[in-house]
Formats: sequence, C-alpha cells, structure tokens
Amino acid sequence: MDTLQKLEILSGDSQYDLACACGTKNPKEHRKRSEDGARWLYPVPLAAGGKGIMFKTLISNCCGNDCKYCPLRSNANARRCALTPDETVRAFLEQERRKHLIGLFLSSGVTGTPDTTMERLIASAEILRKRYSYKGYIHLKIIPGASEAAMLEALRYSTKVSLNIEVPGKRHFEKLSGCKNFERDIVAPLKFLASHTGRGTEFRHVQCSTQFIVGASDEKDYEILRYMDGIYNRLKFERVYFSAYQPGLGDPGIPGEQHFTLSSAPDKLTREHRLYQADFLLRKYHFGVNEMMYDAQGNFELGADPKQVWADRHPECFPVNANQAPEEKLLRVPGLGPVAVKRILSARSVHRLHALTDANLRGAPANKASKYLVFS
Ligand code: SF4
Repeated sequence: MDTLQKLEILSGDSQYDLACACGTKNPKEHRKRSEDGARWLYPVPLAAGGKGIMFKTLISNCCGNDCKYCPLRSNANARRCALTPDETVRAFLEQERRKHLIGLFLSSGVTGTPDTTMERLIASAEILRKRYSYKGYIHLKIIPGASEAAMLEALRYSTKVSLNIEVPGKRHFEKLSGCKNFERDIVAPLKFLASHTGRGTEFRHVQCSTQFIVGASDEKDYEILRYMDGIYNRLKFERVYFSAYQPGLGDPGIPGEQHFTLSSAPDKLTREHRLYQADFLLRKYHFGVNEMMYDAQGNFELGADPKQVWADRHPECFPVNANQAPEEKLLRVPGLGPVAVKRILSARSVHRLHALTDANLRGAPANKASKYLVFS
C-alpha cells in the first residue's frame, strides 16, 4: 500500500477517537470530516470561534489488545497497516504546505509493547520538531501501560497528550478488556501525567485530556460525572471528552450483555451530547457535580438538556431578575450562555433592561430564557 492508501484506512479507524470538543447541537457534526474527502483532515472548533483543520490519524491499526468495543481489537477482522514515522511526517508536511493546518494528532493501536508503540509516536513528533523545526500543535496519544520514561519523552515534544480512561472504574473496565489493568495501565499513568504537567512543573505548557467511551458497559452518567469531577479538580486535566460506543462498529458480541443492544445508536449519540452539556455546566457555569439531576437509573434525561432539567426541578430559584441578579444566577437560566450573560451585564450597566432585546438577545434561546426572567 502507498502512504495515501494507508492514511485512508488509518484515519478512518481513528474517527471515533475524537479530537474535537462538542460545540454543535448535532452530535453527528462532531464526527464530520473534511469535505474534500481526505479523512485525515479533521475540522476542529476553535476557542476563538470558527474552525481549524487538524491532521489526525492512527500510525498503526495493528493491536494486540482485546477491548471488546473496539473494531481494531486483535481478533477483529480489520485491514491492518502502519505508517513509519518518516511517512507520517512527510504526509503531514505535504498537507501543511497545501492547507493551513492547526496541528497534528497521532494515536495508534498497541503494536508490540506499549513502549514500542510510544517510540513510533514519539519518533514522528521528534522528527517534526528537530528536523523540520515545526513549532505548531502536536497531540500525542499516551498508550495505556506506557512507562514513565516514555511518557516523559512524549511530553517533551507535545502540545497536548491524552490517555483514554474509557470507563468510570475498574468494575466496568474488567468487563471490556482482559489485557489491560485499570489501576496499572490507566489510573497510574493519568496520575503521572497530572504530576508532571501544570503549574510549577517542567511540562507546565503541555495540556492533558482523557476520554470516556459511552455506552460500552452498563456505566451510569452519575458514575462518569464523579470520575470527571476528580479528573478536573484533582488531576487538573484540561478537558474530558466522550465518544458514544457505536453498535456494529466494535461489535463486541458479549453473550448475555444485553445493554449493548438496549439503546439505539441515536440515543447513544444523544447521551454523549448530554454528557458534553454537563461538562460545560461544570467548567463554564459554576455547577457542582452534586447538583446534577439524574433519572431513577442515574442517567441524564435524553429529552432535555441537564441545565433545563435542573431549572425545572428548582422552581424556588426562578424567576431571576435580569436587572439585578449576579452573573452566577444568570448563568443558571436555561437559554443563557456565558456570552449572553456578558451582554446582559454590559447592557444593564448602561440602561435598565425591559426585555432581552435590550441586550441585543433574540431568537429561540432568548425566548426560552425569558420564561425564567423578570425585568422589574
Ligand atoms: S488498545 Fe483497545 S481500544 Fe486501543 S486499538 Fe487496541 S483494542 Fe482498540
């Protein structure tokens, strides 16, 4: 196979390992690829607004592990191939010359040991940094079970590293993988990354993130939220991502594991979206993890966003006075996000508000918010 044929396969296999944050109402949008057919070019929402293009691929889809949700597990019928570090770098630079890319995101199946896989990932980053003096964004996936030495080497060349936690706890993890050990291969490396990045450390400029696969076990949303709270508040990771398990892709076929077929693929994508909304409530809206409202099973309602559910179960907190309420109370109003709240604060410092249109807020979110506000 030539490099393009390999990229076609490897970038296709990397698509459920998200490189982007949720930023759209439609979860399917998050998985969109470049419109020119190059599956390794991945639109990513930018913090400043708009989108950038990330070059994202696996460097190998050969894997000796047995994760039951994964289409690349060792006994799955996948078309296997691998890129060398030189091939990876050449392909990236070729695209970089033709389009302005915001960076490179490399991951891999586990070929040989975790450390031999890490060596190939790190080699690509090292070539780019040293031979081509590339100063841009490089995101390297940390392979579960990687040694501390390999993680330090990855930190040396990365802008961001990530290691997927996959599920909230050992009980779920053991159902999905007989090869990997939750404490040794996931939790210990996550803690190691946390202790070597962030304020006061050598790699303070390197961001860390992790990802849950949603719906591959019978985990509940409240369990994910508990772990997520620890990842943000104790490990100080930059982001937590979610990827809905897609029935038929991994085709785990675990006898007796009914939950794999209980919820449909669209429901799993909606669940993923609700988790992203909860993530935003924790990070941007000052909600505490204990304030989240679940159904009787411990999951978010699929039919309404978690903030709306919270508001409807707390009638004593509404209506909120748009002319007097502090920022944190306005942020709790369904339909108002941080940008809208800033507009309200700014407008009311100049004149009294009689409606949200006085703060230049219109449309469906403003109509929704108006039901929870008073202006007198
Ligand atoms: S380690 Fe598990 S999730 Fe990763 S590629 Fe291998 S089988 Fe898939």
